[in-house]
Amino acid sequence: MKKVKAFGIIVMILLLLAGAAAVYYVLLPARTFDVPSVSLEGQEAMPFSGSWHTRLLRQPAWLADRIPITKETAANQTGVSYQRLGGLDMKKLQLQVPEDADRCTFELIRPFETVNPVEAEGDLADWQSFEFTRNGDYSLTVYLHYDEDESYDAADFQYNFDFTIDVQPKVSFSTDRALQGDIIRVTADMGFETESPEIETDLGQCAFIPMGDNCYEAYVPVAYNQSAAAKDIVVHAGEKDVTGHVVIVPASFEVEYFDMPQETIDSTMNVPGAAEDYKQKLGVLAEERYTVWEKLWDGQFIQPVEGTITSSFGLYRFINGSTTASRHQGIDIAVAEGTPVPASNRGQVVFADFVIMTGNTVVIEHGAGLKTIYMHLSELDCEAGDMVEKGDIIGLVGSTGYSTGPHLHFEVRIGGASVSPWPLIEGTSTIYGNE
Ligand SMILES: [Zn+2]
Repeated sequence: MKKVKAFGIIVMILLLLAGAAAVYYVLLPARTFDVPSVSLEGQEAMPFSGSWHTRLLRQPAWLADRIPITKETAANQTGVSYQRLGGLDMKKLQLQVPEDADRCTFELIRPFETVNPVEAEGDLADWQSFEFTRNGDYSLTVYLHYDEDESYDAADFQYNFDFTIDVQPKVSFSTDRALQGDIIRVTADMGFETESPEIETDLGQCAFIPMGDNCYEAYVPVAYNQSAAAKDIVVHAGEKDVTGHVVIVPASFEVEYFDMPQETIDSTMNVPGAAEDYKQKLGVLAEERYTVWEKLWDGQFIQPVEGTITSSFGLYRFINGSTTASRHQGIDIAVAEGTPVPASNRGQVVFADFVIMTGNTVVIEHGAGLKTIYMHLSELDCEAGDMVEKGDIIGLVGSTGYSTGPHLHFEVRIGGASVSPWPLIEGTSTIYGNE
């Protein structure tokens, strides 16, 4: 009897303990798990499905205030599951996921593609380096995984974003008002277009060069003697034509009355064939075959030598009482005979020879038809075809050709149009726009 009674008490105690344990377990505070959100291009989405995995002897899911995520519960929580972003004019999309997620993977699908609908898949790093290569409809699914730890159960969530990639070529013009002597930069981001853009303008000879990432730039010269007028620049970019309207604004140029020794004129300008010599040697350099179709220059152009500017850019020069002015297409820098002349920037020497009118002359092509010209040198230290770095010595200052004393005539041309060297030297030129 006693044994039976004792056994009964033990069973009761065990039952009570078990009951107490059950009550304790049931009353354990529910562990909350904020449902994480994911954003694509700033558009937040809640999971359209998710689940987590409770450990053994853990509060069962039906007692927690968390239940498996469904489309409805997620939408109730804050907002939107199945985020629809509409049309996006971008090659890369910014994905933001919670930092505490232990794993993030994605799958990008072209929903209307029946064969190979998967465009890309991988982890967050893969997404960050992913770039779209074609327009169309896309569906992005993002998977977040949380490992089990002290405070959380393991959990998985899925997010969905639908959108259309619609990238079109974009053309922009650095300005709609340009001074005589300026350069207008034209930028064409061609998107997924495989053809190069083309430019049409009567301001001067120029063409697009590739700048990477399917972007192109062209540098339109506004010559010192370009008439002040409204001008159109037309860019053919894939299917569409984009027109830029630019007003050319008159710049103020200095006037100089100058006495030139007759013997200098006779030994240069008046030599039979001098004009033809200039035309054949320097006139042809505007031709496309002397253009390098890539950017060779590297950063800001330097003023080759320091000295007094004796003749300014675009100067009107009345010589020996003449009633008609000649124009000065560069700048004259007075400096001692024999001073080394460095290349203003990186480029390819396309001419290094003697010209009756300009003396020993060097022309460097820096890409896209942008050239620097150095005249009246006493010595040439480079040859046509040489690649030169900025600062490489290309010759020595002299007074050869149409010149009355040692100086460097420094000039900048695009195609056949002379433009002001100052914005290039001072770092304000529009060509530096993207550097
Ligand atoms: Zn000069």
